[in-house]
Amino acid sequence: MLRLWYNKLNMYKMKGMTLVIYLDNAATTKPCKEAVDAVMNGLEHFGNPSSLHRLGLEAENLVDKQREIIAGAIGAQEKEIFFTSCATESSNTAIFGAYAYQGKRKHRVVTTTVEHPSVAVPINKLEQLGCEVIRLSPDENGQISPKAVLDAVNEDTFLVSMMLVNNETGAVFDVGEAFSMIKKKYPQVLTHCDCVQGFMKLPFTVKKLSADMISLSGHKVYAPKGIGALYVKSGVHIPGLLLGGGQENNFRSGTECVPLICGFGAAVAALCGKVEQNYKNAKALQNYLIEKCSETGGVTVNFASGSPYITSIAVEGLKSEVLLHFLEENGIYVSSGSACSKGKKSSVIKEFRVPEKLSDSVLRISFSNRTTNDDIDALLEAITRAQGRLARMK
Ligand code: PLP
Repeated sequence: MLRLWYNKLNMYKMKGMTLVIYLDNAATTKPCKEAVDAVMNGLEHFGNPSSLHRLGLEAENLVDKQREIIAGAIGAQEKEIFFTSCATESSNTAIFGAYAYQGKRKHRVVTTTVEHPSVAVPINKLEQLGCEVIRLSPDENGQISPKAVLDAVNEDTFLVSMMLVNNETGAVFDVGEAFSMIKKKYPQVLTHCDCVQGFMKLPFTVKKLSADMISLSGHKVYAPKGIGALYVKSGVHIPGLLLGGGQENNFRSGTECVPLICGFGAAVAALCGKVEQNYKNAKALQNYLIEKCSETGGVTVNFASGSPYITSIAVEGLKSEVLLHFLEENGIYVSSGSACSKGKKSSVIKEFRVPEKLSDSVLRISFSNRTTNDDIDALLEAITRAQGRLARMK
C-alpha cells in the first residue's frame, strides 16, 4: 500500500496538476456547491433588505428564509437568530452584551482555560475592567465536570461561557448538563456556548444546551467565510455591539450581507438530516486514523475521545511546523495546534496534558464530509517519509 500516495503525487506533478489532500477542516472548509450557487443567487438579489420597494422585499425574504433554516437546525425561533460577520463577532457581542446587561451589579465570569481566543480574549478584557474571572481546566480525561462548573458559580456571577467542542483536540464538554444545573440554582446567570466546532457535526438544540446565547460560524460548515450567527434566547435583553440603522431587529446594525447569508443557509440546509450519518462516517474515519497511527512508529494520538472530526496527534522528534510544511509540499494540508495560534506554542494543548516532549510536535487532523480512508493513508505514508527524510537531515 505504501507508495500509493507518492505515485499519485508524482502523476499529478507530471500532468502539471496540484494534489490537495485537505485535512484542516477545523480551520475552514471548502464551500459546498449549494452554498456557492446560493451566494450567486444572493448577489443577483441585490436590493437592500431595508428598502421598502420590491427589490428590498425580495432580499429581506431571502434573509428571513435563511434565518428560518439556521433556527430550525438548532431548535430555535427565527427571532432568536441574528446574523453576524463571524463567530468571533457573535461571541464578542454575547460577552460584552452580558457585561453591559448585568456586569455593573455582578462581577464574576466563569469560563474554561481552553476557549478559543474569540471568547478568551474578550473575557480577559472583562478582567481588566474589574471582573473576577474563574477559569476551569480539563481533568486528566480532558473533561470539565458539570459539578465543577456549578461550584465555580456564585450569587455574584453574571456570565458562564463554555465551548461545546474544543477546536484543538475535539474534546466535547457536557455543556447541557453544566448549564442546566446552573440555571436551576442561579436562573439569572447568562449562559453562552461557542458551538462553532459542534454545529451541524454533533446533534444539539438550544433547549438541550440550556444556553441563553450560542455562537455559530458559516465557514466551518461549508459556507463562505465572513458570515456567522448569534442565537439569543427570547427574553434575554443584551445590547448589540454595532449601533446604527437598527438592522437585525435593532440588535446588529449594518446592511445584511445577503449573498453570504444565502450561502450560510444553503450550506446548513444541505447538512440537515445528515448530521447522524456524517458523524458515523467521521467516527469510522477517526478509528481508521487511530489504527494507522498505531501501526506507524513514533506517532502518538494525543486526544481522540471527543468529536470524531478532530484528532490531535504528535510525531515524536519532528517539530510541527517543519512537518506541516513538508506535508504541504507533498499536497497534504493539516494544522499545527489550531490555525489561530499561527505557530505560537499552544497553551490549550498543555491544558489537555499532552506531555511536554510532544508539545512541539502536535498536528491537528480535521475531517470534512469529503475525507476518505485514502486521504488518511496518504497522510501516514507522507509522515513515514518525513520521518526518514527529516531524521537524515538532522
Ligand atoms: N470558536 C471556535 C471553537 C473556532 O474553532 C473558531 C475558528 O477557528 C472560532 C470560534 C472563530 O470563528 P470565526 O472564524 O467565524 O470568527
